[in-house]
Amino acid sequence: MKKSVIEYLLESREKYPNKIAFKDEKKEITFAELDRKARCIASGIRKKLGSQKNEPIAVYMEKGIDCIVAFMGIVYSGNFYSPIDIHSPIERINIVLNTLKPVLILTNYSSEKNIHTRQLEIDFKAVMKIEDADSEEIEYELEKTLSDQLDVDPLYTLFTSGSTGVPKGVVISHRAVIDYMEWLSDTFHFDNNTIFGNQAPFYFDNSILDIYQTIKNAATMVIIPEKYFMFHSQLVDFVNENRINTFFWVPSALIAVANSGVLKETRFCTLQKVLFCGEVMPVKPLNEWRKYYPDLLYANLYGPTEITDVCSYYIVDREFKEEESLPIGKACRNTEIIVLNEKNELVQPGEAGELCVRGICLSLGYYGQFEKTNEVFIQNPLNTRYRDLIYRTGDIVKYNELGEIIYLCRKDSQIKYQGHRIELGEIDSAAYSVNGIRQACAIYDGEKIILYCSTSKAILEKEIYNELKEKIPKYMMPKVIRILEDIPLNVNGKLDRVWLNKKSREEKARS
Ligand code: AMP
Repeated sequence: MKKSVIEYLLESREKYPNKIAFKDEKKEITFAELDRKARCIASGIRKKLGSQKNEPIAVYMEKGIDCIVAFMGIVYSGNFYSPIDIHSPIERINIVLNTLKPVLILTNYSSEKNIHTRQLEIDFKAVMKIEDADSEEIEYELEKTLSDQLDVDPLYTLFTSGSTGVPKGVVISHRAVIDYMEWLSDTFHFDNNTIFGNQAPFYFDNSILDIYQTIKNAATMVIIPEKYFMFHSQLVDFVNENRINTFFWVPSALIAVANSGVLKETRFCTLQKVLFCGEVMPVKPLNEWRKYYPDLLYANLYGPTEITDVCSYYIVDREFKEEESLPIGKACRNTEIIVLNEKNELVQPGEAGELCVRGICLSLGYYGQFEKTNEVFIQNPLNTRYRDLIYRTGDIVKYNELGEIIYLCRKDSQIKYQGHRIELGEIDSAAYSVNGIRQACAIYDGEKIILYCSTSKAILEKEIYNELKEKIPKYMMPKVIRILEDIPLNVNGKLDRVWLNKKSREEKARS
């Protein structure tokens, strides 16, 4: 039984040393070269850190092959990686780095400038460029590092939005990823002919499927440059030129393609499988895809970062009307989903409840945040006999007549906006730190984020906007900022979101 994802890389290198593993806009890399470079980096890391293991190492780079090389180098060294979204505002990156406290930061020559021109709160001696490790002598002890590795050791930490303004670092083990990878290959029959067209950023958990299925099956992953997601006919050309046959994208990306008209006008000639995950996939755009590509495999995968990307799936096997909901299906292998009502009992047929997950897929918790971890990784209330953890997702679901799970809504103020997971509370926290803001509350009206606030001094919406964009990523920025004299409080003394939601609906109806 495998203990480390590196064993996948070793197998693929043995079988297909000269096959292209990863490709980005500028270069490509074979399995043998990926393995060699990763070992060099690992040797460089061990020279700096000695035999320390299970330490966090941040990867601070523009998305590309170099990130994958860095990830594998870090794993070879017996440590775990955390990709940083380098396009985030510096304040947020500093919060992430202060939480993670990485022992090293890996970068490359092209991203290094970004580190030095921005005010990163780091020890610059801890920055290592991967190119500098390329001539490292490969340490024979690496084999020993691998044999010392446990499958429950962490593989990566991904940071997601946190409602109090501090992003949460979700720690995932090798075992969880190996289990997920074995299930994926068996279910979707990925193999060395699979060519993934990668859309997901590496700081988002959907990328785990593309990266590790490629390494496991000696497949190929082509990173699709972000610009093509805005110019859809070029996207089609790119996919065809690279003979991409598999997508695992967020629904927003598939919806944008469906709305652009390219499905009718051009053709994805090599496409075979379209998998999606990360947010609700509405039936209308899915039907548009199915109209032009009736023979592809379509699958709706569901899951949060905390359970290693995916815990339930539905392979589309029948027709749906536009007003119907696409099921998120049933639990993946070696995973159990229990749906609990407010009394922490299993729901009755037709009753809505919170989707909770059991299994090896559960995260090791939020990095350095035990209290937050204990709020959602809890003892299974149905088991009073031994330790049995479940993760409470916060997603409200129900079963349909076929026993399939249907996603209904969230129980909190977490939203998905264009595939991004956002806690509205993180926007509120950032807004409160803008000088002159007295009250702040962000809401989502189904199309856009609106920030309502009241102020203690004269301040313009534009000024609030400009300060805010220094604190939160672009995708979290409110489309509209409204200054009110006062935001009323609800019976619990909190800002009244319900009142604001009603106000926004009224404003929308008037416009
Ligand atoms: P993330 O941690 O970024 O993957 O976001 C996880 C959240 O995205 C889940 O808790 C759901 O709210 C939502 N989500 C993921 N997949 C789906 C899906 N197939 N349908 C509906 N919502 C989804």
